[in-house]
Amino acid sequence: MLRRAELQIAEIIQETHDTKTFRVGAPPGGLPEFKPGQFYAFEVKNADGAWIRRSYSIASSPRETRFFDLTIKFLEGGAATGVLFKNARTGDTVRATGPFGEFILDESRPAIFVAGGVGITPIMSMLRYWSESVNPPNACLLYSNRERRDIIYEAELRDMAAKCRNFEFHYSLTRVKDGDRWGGRVGRFDASVVNEICQNMTDRIIYLCGPVAMMEEMGRSFIDMGVKSTDIRVEAFLGTNPTFG
Ligand SMILES: Cc1cc2nc3c(=O)[nH]c(=O)nc-3n(C[C@H](O)[C@H](O)[C@H](O)COP(=O)(O)OP(=O)(O)OC[C@H]3O[C@@H](n4cnc5c(N)ncnc54)[C@H](O)[C@@H]3O)c2cc1C
Repeated sequence: MLRRAELQIAEIIQETHDTKTFRVGAPPGGLPEFKPGQFYAFEVKNADGAWIRRSYSIASSPRETRFFDLTIKFLEGGAATGVLFKNARTGDTVRATGPFGEFILDESRPAIFVAGGVGITPIMSMLRYWSESVNPPNACLLYSNRERRDIIYEAELRDMAAKCRNFEFHYSLTRVKDGDRWGGRVGRFDASVVNEICQNMTDRIIYLCGPVAMMEEMGRSFIDMGVKSTDIRVEAFLGTNPTFG
């Protein structure tokens, strides 16, 4: 467990037009153990010298102990993201406490991951860990974004799908633009997608992270298909937990 460690930003990577990965160097002795899917309480200093604290999922694999990655989406008017996107530089000091969270990969069970937008981050940690494992159980990713330019980690996910035989993944865009050259799925994830793709997957653990409406709709669809509610795990970034009753 990191107890409010002061760490340095080692690298800033532009992922998409409005997301960046902040790679943070580990303290001397390496990064303490964490589980794929967990998050840190992360602090950045604003222009007045006050620390702003927000939660961010760890996107890198727990097997990487030299640094951890946080992939963060810019929010207009946001306090922490304002500092991170406008002022943060390599070498800046940040603080991290944790890891925290129960949204954790169960390595022993086959999985369906459902992500919307930046909700891919904890799932990316799980997938990176999963893809480095020997004989991992089957995994299926459903990843939805508005436009093509919003897809985070696209090249890495395509590469993973090409290399890992038991990894199946499906992208969908909800707002395809003329220039997107998109031959893939279009529209929101809903019951029809679950019935079409996940028919024979009722033995799986479901991991949901994205907009609350998407998590509620997908959660209900999986329950209607026969998945036990105890096999559905959710992470809500905005503090509103989904209910699928
Ligand atoms: C467990 C967990 C994991 C998370 N992981 C990630 C992650 O991996 N990546 C990621 O990008 N985010 C993640 N988040 C979300 C993150 O913690 C922050 O909530 C997010 O980055 C916004 O922080 P902020 O300080 O920039 O925005 P805030 O200042 O908190 O503002 C949030 C929103 O409110 C709006 N707002 C602010 N002030 C006002 C106002 N006065 N009136 C009206 N609207 C206003 C802002 O424009 C913004 O849209 C996670 C959250 C949780 C709980």
